[in-house]
Amino acid sequence: MNLNETINQMYKDCGISPEVLKLGEEVLEELSPRFAKIDAVAEYNQMKVLSAMRKNRVSEMHFAATTGYGYNDSGRDTLERVYADTFHTEDALVRSQITCGTHALHLALSGNLRPGDELLSPVGKPYDTLEEVIGIRDSVGSLKEYGVSYSQVDLLPDGSFDYEGIRKAIKPKTRMATIQRSKGYASRPTLSPKQIGELIAFMKQIKPDIICMVDNCYGEFVETKEPSDYGADMIVGSLIKNPGGGLAPAGGYICGTAECVERVARRLTSPGLGREVGANLGTNPSFYQGFFLAPTVTASAEKGAIFAAKLYERLGFRVHPAGDAPRYDIIQAIDMKTAEGLKAFCQGIQAAAPVDSFVTPEPWAMPGYDSDVIMAAGAFIQGASIELSADGPLRPPYTVYFQGGITWYHAKYGILMSLQKLVDSGFQL
Ligand SMILES: *Cc1c(COP(=O)(O)O)cnc(C)c1O
Repeated sequence: MNLNETINQMYKDCGISPEVLKLGEEVLEELSPRFAKIDAVAEYNQMKVLSAMRKNRVSEMHFAATTGYGYNDSGRDTLERVYADTFHTEDALVRSQITCGTHALHLALSGNLRPGDELLSPVGKPYDTLEEVIGIRDSVGSLKEYGVSYSQVDLLPDGSFDYEGIRKAIKPKTRMATIQRSKGYASRPTLSPKQIGELIAFMKQIKPDIICMVDNCYGEFVETKEPSDYGADMIVGSLIKNPGGGLAPAGGYICGTAECVERVARRLTSPGLGREVGANLGTNPSFYQGFFLAPTVTASAEKGAIFAAKLYERLGFRVHPAGDAPRYDIIQAIDMKTAEGLKAFCQGIQAAAPVDSFVTPEPWAMPGYDSDVIMAAGAFIQGASIELSADGPLRPPYTVYFQGGITWYHAKYGILMSLQKLVDSGFQL
């Protein structure tokens, strides 16, 4: 047997039927030019990260753990320089004390808004967890409780910006705008950094001192440029998504202007202390190495998303974004049509996982959702969605949200397995 035959035998031994494998290979053949472009973006971004690491003379001493207050933590401070130089911002905060993406966004907002200020979302409803942060849904400790008001302008039906609506919504008290790049779990398209740049330029023309923050979750390294290259005052994200490269065990980042980041630092720790405190507690090696790997890890996840889109599109499923559409994040949504289809997809992803492959995910009544939800995640790091994962609410059209894949080969196997489970449940190829 040659190597290809050996690999195919391996897939068969791992539960993939010859029919599913053949279909997968047919879809993949078409994808080589697309994958070559993704590799080129990854190559560029790899050089961008490497340049920042070389410029800042990253060295073994930066990997040492600090404890207590964490004064003079040069490893932490240098990592923050590496992030700032990679994303072309004046400054950055990258900390394990930032527990998740929502926390990072809350810090960026609450650090920069003051009582009487208004926050504007010019791109419609923000990510679910921000509703309680902002006070769209009443919540103890929300920005609303601190006297910060909120206004929102929805995207137009075709997904473009409602410039007239935005012009009217910008008032003297409008201090900040929050712009979400990824569609998240909404049905609108994901925004490109360039589009975000046009929006920012428009708003700054009306009100030059408006602070523009971009929720960059799931978007990092998908393109050669980030929203910070297009005028964003802050970009914000989670380290258990793209920039952590699958290695960071927790954390978040805020990159932006020196002034904005300083205000966030004072919110993260305390006025007077700011960025000077915050021991790294041993997380530095994974933060550095994860960031080093992030461009290729993101490329793997993106390849997985495109493979899934093309495969399921070919079988007659509706996919968002479409298989051939440009991509600005790593999330793929597929309407599975039936509850059985959604369950089968998630069970396939779970069965292909390196961790907890023997577990069968079942729908459950998750707090905060109005229908049962099913989730597949066999991750090394709890909830890390840069690792291969899938989830969806059990209601029509039974959309599964699929993302991640630290290696392309794992993403490929997971997607083949999802289709195998669908076939096993009675779906005709
Ligand atoms: C994941 C995500 C968040 C929140 O991040 P958590 O780490 O889950 O708190 C916010 N916005 C977007 C667009 C996201 O994808």
